[in-house]
Amino acid sequence: MIKKGRPISLSSLKINKILANLTTLCYNFSMRAINLASGSDGNITYIEISDKKILLDLGLTCTQAVERLEKIGIKPNEISAIIISHEHSDHIKGVDVFSSKFDIPVYAHKSVWLGLDEKLKKVSNKNRLEFENDFSLGGGTIHPFEVPHDVKCFGFKFQDNNSKISVVTDLGHLNDSILSSIRGSQLVYLEANYDKKMLMQGTKYPLSLKMRIDGPNGHLSNIDSSEAVKFLSCTGTRQIVLAHLSRENNSPSIAYNTICSEIQKEGLQEGEDLKIDVATPNIGAFFKLK
Ligand SMILES: [Zn+2]
Ligand SMILES: [Zn+2]
Repeated sequence: MIKKGRPISLSSLKINKILANLTTLCYNFSMRAINLASGSDGNITYIEISDKKILLDLGLTCTQAVERLEKIGIKPNEISAIIISHEHSDHIKGVDVFSSKFDIPVYAHKSVWLGLDEKLKKVSNKNRLEFENDFSLGGGTIHPFEVPHDVKCFGFKFQDNNSKISVVTDLGHLNDSILSSIRGSQLVYLEANYDKKMLMQGTKYPLSLKMRIDGPNGHLSNIDSSEAVKFLSCTGTRQIVLAHLSRENNSPSIAYNTICSEIQKEGLQEGEDLKIDVATPNIGAFFKLK
């Protein structure tokens, strides 16, 4: 079962109280997740499995990340692990300072560490942890799977018994291996990076950058993302959160409307067959899985 918390405003001073109430009401969840930041300027997803509190990517400054964690009632030294998808700065900006300041272990795939070593010099040796396959945290299993990007990059499925949350961003295209990794996840944070028309007609980006974004190792367009939504809707997914939207080449309403109308062509109705929300650069809503 999936439950959605109340949307959260960064400016609200009542937030900790609201969240404390939500937590009390939903005390028997096995996993919960919330977007702390999403998009071109930085990405952080907070995921809890049992008693383990995990940050997937930390693409804001350490100070910003601490502020956002405080708003959801979490102290930075409560974090059990930072897991890194890839080396781009919108995913690792605050990792070095956060890990060294609060003594937090950093997990990345062996191949991703090759690009991180120079960028994360403050992370102590004991906090540099690598994985090659599935690994466990807090009684849950974390299943990494490679995604096609212009550097080594991984998506993740977090599983606790039958509850599954997948996070898949920064990929140029979908393939069978990715779809089979995320199938059956009740909650999926899914990239919907750009509207192709906005990207191609925009004047800010040089053609080479447009080609990189639209290429097989760039990012998923709204239309690409809709293909994944169609697939996931048949595998038990109840909640999609569109993520990593481009500031220049997309908007929450364009991503949402495009994907809703694409899935409608297949007879799928947002709100009935599955729910679709959009992650923004600000804190989102908690989702809880029993
Ligand atoms: Zn990114
Ligand atoms: Zn990237």
